[in-house]
Amino acid sequence: MSFIYSLTINDYPIYIGKTKNIKNRYNNHKSACYSGDDKKLYTTINQMGISRRQFYEYVKINILYENVPKHYEDRMEFLTIFLYRDFGFNIFNQRVSITEYLCQHNKIKMSCSICNPSMCNKCNKVYSKGYIKTHLKNCKF
Ligand SMILES: [Zn+2]
Ligand SMILES: [Zn+2]
Repeated sequence: MSFIYSLTINDYPIYIGKTKNIKNRYNNHKSACYSGDDKKLYTTINQMGISRRQFYEYVKINILYENVPKHYEDRMEFLTIFLYRDFGFNIFNQRVSITEYLCQHNKIKMSCSICNPSMCNKCNKVYSKGYIKTHLKNCKF
């Protein structure tokens, strides 16, 4: 089960995501932002003059949907991003069309291990190209 959440600055939504752990994800956004892993978020925040110390004060995380079943979480996230864009919000998640974004396996293409297979050279399990880096760091084989 996952949460679909938004990041807002002054109540203006800038990012839609999904996570299993809101608190961890919020912290990750902050570190990704200031370590340069998330350049879009960093640029936005930097332009507004929000310092690292002020992050939690100005950038808010909001739960939009909870208890989203695994099978639906990618679709739900996708749908939410596009709903917000239809309402005119400049959500800065990757700009892609539905066919580029989702594959027939009901996954985000980039993180689908069937569309984008990549094998771990330690445990020989197949992961998605989008996930293999993270897996290699954590592979205990
Ligand atoms: Zn696929
Ligand atoms: Zn492995």
